[in-house]
Amino acid sequence: MKKQKICIIGDGLTGLATALILSKLDIEINLIRKSKIIKKSGDNRTTAISESNYSFLLGYLNNTDLKAFWSCKNIDLYHEKLSQYYHFMNFSNNEKNLMHIIKNEKLKKIFLEKLKKQKNIKIINEEIKKININDSSVLIKNKKVIFDLIILCLGSKSKIVEKLIGKRFINDDLKEIAFTSLVKHDSIIAEPKQYFLKEGPLAILPLNKKIFSYVWSMNESYRSYKKDEIKNLVYSKLKNILNSKTKIILEEPMSFPISFKFNVNLSKKNLLVLGDGSYNVHPIAGQGFNLILRDIKKLFDFMNNHLSLGLQIKDSLFIKKFVNSRKPENLLFGLGINFTNKFFMHNKSTSLLKEIILKDLNKFEFLKKLSLKISDKGIFQ
Ligand SMILES: Cc1cc2nc3c(=O)[nH]c(=O)nc-3n(C[C@H](O)[C@H](O)[C@H](O)COP(=O)(O)OP(=O)(O)OC[C@H]3O[C@@H](n4cnc5c(N)ncnc54)[C@H](O)[C@@H]3O)c2cc1C
Repeated sequence: MKKQKICIIGDGLTGLATALILSKLDIEINLIRKSKIIKKSGDNRTTAISESNYSFLLGYLNNTDLKAFWSCKNIDLYHEKLSQYYHFMNFSNNEKNLMHIIKNEKLKKIFLEKLKKQKNIKIINEEIKKININDSSVLIKNKKVIFDLIILCLGSKSKIVEKLIGKRFINDDLKEIAFTSLVKHDSIIAEPKQYFLKEGPLAILPLNKKIFSYVWSMNESYRSYKKDEIKNLVYSKLKNILNSKTKIILEEPMSFPISFKFNVNLSKKNLLVLGDGSYNVHPIAGQGFNLILRDIKKLFDFMNNHLSLGLQIKDSLFIKKFVNSRKPENLLFGLGINFTNKFFMHNKSTSLLKEIILKDLNKFEFLKKLSLKISDKGIFQ
């Protein structure tokens, strides 16, 4: 019997991870990537992957790949008050790993190398401009190719999803921007830290003891700052936070607009949207790709069940069922992260209340365990 054929468009972390995970199914996959043909400035972000998602990914990685991850057992949280940084919380779990940090470009390279070896995957370099939702076809190299399922992993900037599925968003314009880059230093920093600063939350994510990546989310007034001005601001803030004697060398920062956006429509006919094109959450909790990985795992389970019963993917109800099974958790996560971000925003009128709450927060072991469990495995696990 002819194998069922799906098309995955986009080679960000979502597209590559989806192709790799679904490649274990008895189907044919066309993966379409435009990065090869359009020169991009690269992705200098790092991603912190939760312990349970990492364990899941181990099934796809080899020992050499694992060297690219930096594993962490502790997270420390600080709050800025009058240019002092107060430690108010520590997360740990009996010396077990909490997260594994890796450069996005490195992870993409690892995924791509594996995909190139998969017999049921064909990688095509093309920027897709035409998709016909009625007959599930994609125009590839001027040829109309029909698929049983088309998965769009186009990121947040593409307008294709909006055009094909419609524009129904739950949207909260946070009017924020995130800056990120790598920092080399002569101190020893092995565990991640989160600083709630007056300008906005700053996360420090080590890639080894001598290099970390920072993600600093700020209000949109910083959007007009030139790269050098941001670099100077980050430099002086890090000097304050770490120790003025610590030598630091910063790479060029990249900026990412932040919004909380949740697309109500994630599928139509034989079209499914995954990744940043379906929802964006604030990077404060490092959950974006972790939620996406949980989506992909679930999609695999649905498709695997379906295929093992000998059923057709095309025109099947499982796509709707899959979307409905993931929507509540993703929306709740997005709203929860938004709430946390707003709570920590610099605001003179609430700062006293904030101090009272933060003072004893570290004592609430139950709350800490619950937060750890949710950020590791999700809400409904
Ligand atoms: C500053 C920052 C820090 C973050 N940190 C974390 C973290 O620590 N942990 C975590 O879990 N998440 C984190 N995230 C979220 C995570 O980085 C994203 O969710 C993830 O990278 C999204 O990947 P994506 O593939 O959906 O989108 P993208 O990376 O935008 O990829 C989309 C791809 O589609 C391709 N494409 C677009 N249009 C077409 C077309 N027409 N034809 C062919 N290809 C096309 C593009 O070339 C691109 O390669 C962070 C996000 C930010 C902004």
